[in-house]
Amino acid sequence: MDKEEVEMSIARKAPTKKPPLKACRECGTLNLREASQCSNCGSPNLTDDWEGIVIILKPNSSIVGSKIGVDKPIMRAIKVAGRIV
Ligand SMILES: [Zn+2]
Repeated sequence: MDKEEVEMSIARKAPTKKPPLKACRECGTLNLREASQCSNCGSPNLTDDWEGIVIILKPNSSIVGSKIGVDKPIMRAIKVAGRIV
């Protein structure tokens, strides 16, 4: 199976279009595509190669938020460039 076939099979399982966001390679925070640096850590190291989204609106009452240690609302990728962040 080549890369295109893999992408097509993923697309069939997840028909929603990927939002136009870029993930920070340093901290995983998702930023607007136009951004030149990460809104969380300021790194310019952003990539389109990410998968999965974690959105935490209320970190103080979020089990996931306490597990990953966030203290403010975030929108973060789960995987960036094949690595879980
Ligand atoms: Zn960052």
